[in-house]
Amino acid sequence: MFDRLREHLSREFAPHVFFFRDDDADRDVPELRRLLDLFGTREAPLSLAVIPGTLTPEGASLLRAAASRMPLELHQHGWMHLNHEPSGRKCEFGPSREYTQQRDDIEQGAVRLKDLLNGFVSPVFTPPWNRCTASTCRALADLGFALLSRDRSPAIDPAAIPEIPIAVDIFHWKQGPRLKSAAELEDEIIAAANATGPTGILLHHKVMNGEAFELSEQLVDVLRAHPFVRLDTCKGAHETR
Ligand SMILES: [Zn+2]
Repeated sequence: MFDRLREHLSREFAPHVFFFRDDDADRDVPELRRLLDLFGTREAPLSLAVIPGTLTPEGASLLRAAASRMPLELHQHGWMHLNHEPSGRKCEFGPSREYTQQRDDIEQGAVRLKDLLNGFVSPVFTPPWNRCTASTCRALADLGFALLSRDRSPAIDPAAIPEIPIAVDIFHWKQGPRLKSAAELEDEIIAAANATGPTGILLHHKVMNGEAFELSEQLVDVLRAHPFVRLDTCKGAHETR
């Protein structure tokens, strides 16, 4: 599995930086434990977007323990992961919400994460559904965030806040999550690894079954064993690009 990817990465004699981002961490569930084990036992870096409003004390305790023993970058996801748009695509930080509303949500999220995760929070923000607006960027900059992670649509306001985009999602999302095949993922990762900058791969532990975990495990193993690949966190990948 992933032989073509392995060959592709060897062809250029150039270093490739990859990072894995997993979204929607809040409760202590078996899938989150399995994901933390997958990366933790390999000492592979993982960036985890945590939902402040729904983070439970048990979830926080699991994350704190993991962050103290593995390269885990905990950062902020939306406040409650709620859609506020009356129509169109789902957004928690979308065009129908002005600067102050967005800033209040982000600020209370930051306070809660600081309380529950102590010193383990990185100043990185991932908006739910990878969507937000210029007001979000301004609020993030005003609140001292250093980095925004979305998909590969053009950066919104890189002067206010730089972005580290995700290139490949292991799931299709139309009509519910559907795992991509290994060949499909391989094609997408090869295409993304040809672009400049780090290659971000997106996971969602809550919808991952055994097959999704096995595929992710194979992928992490191929990447971390490759001599031209460096695995890093969102922030680490951005800082050393
Ligand atoms: Zn999410």
